[in-house]
Amino acid sequence: MPPTPATPRALTLAAALAAAAWFATSTGCSSPPRTPSRPEPAHLSRFEFSRPQMGVPFRIVAYAASEAEAQAAAEAAHARVAELNAALSDYDPDSELSRVCRNTPPGQPAPVGPDLWFMLSRSADCSKRSHGAFDVTLGPVVNLWRRSRRRGELPPPHLLAEARARVGWQHLELNPRRRTVTFHRPDMRLDFGGIAKGYAADEALAVLRRHGIHRALVAAAGDVTVGDPPPGQPAWRVEIGTLDTTNAPPARIAWLRNASVSTSGDLYQRLEINGVRYSHIVDPHTGIGLTNHALVTVIAPDGTTADSLATTLSVLGPDQGLAFLRRSSRHAAALILQARGDHIESLETPNLQHWLTPSP
Ligand code: AMP
Ligand code: MG
Repeated sequence: MPPTPATPRALTLAAALAAAAWFATSTGCSSPPRTPSRPEPAHLSRFEFSRPQMGVPFRIVAYAASEAEAQAAAEAAHARVAELNAALSDYDPDSELSRVCRNTPPGQPAPVGPDLWFMLSRSADCSKRSHGAFDVTLGPVVNLWRRSRRRGELPPPHLLAEARARVGWQHLELNPRRRTVTFHRPDMRLDFGGIAKGYAADEALAVLRRHGIHRALVAAAGDVTVGDPPPGQPAWRVEIGTLDTTNAPPARIAWLRNASVSTSGDLYQRLEINGVRYSHIVDPHTGIGLTNHALVTVIAPDGTTADSLATTLSVLGPDQGLAFLRRSSRHAAALILQARGDHIESLETPNLQHWLTPSP
């Protein structure tokens, strides 16, 4: 996962006056609103915890009867995220992912743990559906981009060619019965930066729920997962970011419960060379960072889906991206802001409105 500098992505967490009716009518989410039927203490207070995890400030907002209860639950949730990082990080040389990549010769199946398996299978699925627009085997190329960012220069062609020879989702074989991964190219390196923070947010929320905290929000920078809304409110109010240009449309507000929202783009992590702005998201066809200057937001029933789709749609671009979403995920909604010269194009799926319009 990328060690993003502290990401000041806007997030307004004030409780909302949104009615939940849209969920009942929404075609965008399969699960009906879950009105908490469990007994709740009369007074819940709001507690907030933040810790740097996975290279971002990992934030938890929880409503609990006491600080001790909230603290214990948040501690366990953060511990779960640390556990995920120990399995999935491409930065940590001792992570399970790094060890598997380093120690597994091509053609030899390597058994992997449940979290690594889950990420591998969800990533492979996303690669297949997107015809490789989403590709976790881009590790060697992404590493080159990190080097470029440090040096302020594009990767030399011979290094780029060498890195690209180690890339390709089709060269990864997964055996679901044995839960093994086989690399069919030498020195392959995986990078779950486009999917793992969404999964971590889901897992953190699951831990909070196991501790009896259901009214909670987990934010891993641009990947946010929410549970039941704050007491007395029908939804969480989450601000969707906009492009950083003077003619960008105003930020919009999403009203969420038991759902996730992810934003991808070149707003906070990018590289500028000779006046060209490159994203940290790489086009697998070229091995070069995207230059389309877009911001993609996806709302989905879970964070793993929202995170992976936001990255995928960034690569596919607005037209292909929205067509892909129609084909592959009727449960997700998207907003794409795309700079076209001086003009900002704003495209969205029809079901986005269900999340943006608080009912009276
Ligand atoms: P996100 O901010 O969720 O869009 O993820 C961006 C991160 O995903 C990058 O920093 C890389 O670690 C990784 N990545 C870059 N390009 C791709 C791609 N085409 N497919 C999958 N992951 C990517
Ligand atoms: Mg993503």
